[in-house]
Amino acid sequence: MREFGFELRLCARLEAGGVPGLASDDGAGEPGNADAGVVARQLGTSVHAAGGRIVDTVCVLPGPEFETRVALASDAIPLPAIEAEVGVGRFRRVTSVFDDPPERARRLAERGREAGFLELDRQNGQTVVRQTGRYPDWVGGLVGVENKPDLGRPGDLEWQTRHDASLGVLDYAVVATESHVTRAHLNRLPDAVGVWRVNFENEDASTSGADDPVDSPIEVIRKPERLDSAGPGLEVLDSKPGRTDVRPVTADAKARQRLRIAERAFGKGWRTYDLPACTEHESAAEADTETLPFCAYKDRLVDAAAECGPECPGYNPVDDEKAPVTDLDAERERNTAWRADAGGRRRQSGLGRFT
Ligand code: SF4
Repeated sequence: MREFGFELRLCARLEAGGVPGLASDDGAGEPGNADAGVVARQLGTSVHAAGGRIVDTVCVLPGPEFETRVALASDAIPLPAIEAEVGVGRFRRVTSVFDDPPERARRLAERGREAGFLELDRQNGQTVVRQTGRYPDWVGGLVGVENKPDLGRPGDLEWQTRHDASLGVLDYAVVATESHVTRAHLNRLPDAVGVWRVNFENEDASTSGADDPVDSPIEVIRKPERLDSAGPGLEVLDSKPGRTDVRPVTADAKARQRLRIAERAFGKGWRTYDLPACTEHESAAEADTETLPFCAYKDRLVDAAAECGPECPGYNPVDDEKAPVTDLDAERERNTAWRADAGGRRRQSGLGRFT
């Protein structure tokens, strides 16, 4: 299976059934499925190398105030808005709470307002700001999954997993594959990195409350070990035979990056795919999700942004007016705690994009 389709189907499974193979909080008892409070795709995790490491799938495990975050705002809240010395009750001058030049301070405040976290007003000729609600402690953990359906074509897998294990911005790192996993495969990965074997042909697998749930399509081959996400880390910038370039990362920088990742995951989710504007397009289902972009001509899920259009031999454009309306945000609302109208402001970008 191609990585794109594999990734979407796995996201649907994680959202519906949780993250398998994690130790219980106190380290006792059998590991079980942890609730994947938020599932998102394609998020950068590097601290120094912007855009350096893009993790395929990130799950944010719910922390103690997860519900408060859900109620606060539906979009990602920018880190500067969270970190600024803005309280909930009293309005304060924008230029006094952001440690930036006035123009940039106003832009940052505006971004916080657009996200629904800050409220702006004018008082005595000054722009003033306050929070719409206290920022909660909502992140219980970050799980990063690298999707490699075919371990015979590993690409940068060794570098990617070394980066994750060494930096420790995630709490757990996992490789997901359809391949048979050998001892040699495991030996090439850092010990802390878990491995799942995924077989979607376990079609009866149920994560949606059926009366008689059977096996999950995800088999835990090796459980991930908890990474040192609270301490300092080393970011692997480059790795060649005989030489690895690393750069230290402080615990504080990691904490800020973790919050940034969690917020991006919350705002983005995983239904960020385009839908083909082509008569060959059909909606496909996986677990509780029914909107996956399936192509009858290619008989598989397709990445519309990369594959669909006049260059495709099967392309047959749909009449704009007849194009089906697919509300991906509505499906996210049905299947998860997330709300498109959190904080009393309805998010605008709800409808699926047709390419
Ligand atoms: S454009 Fe090609 S790949 Fe896309 S839905 Fe149509 S036939 Fe399938």
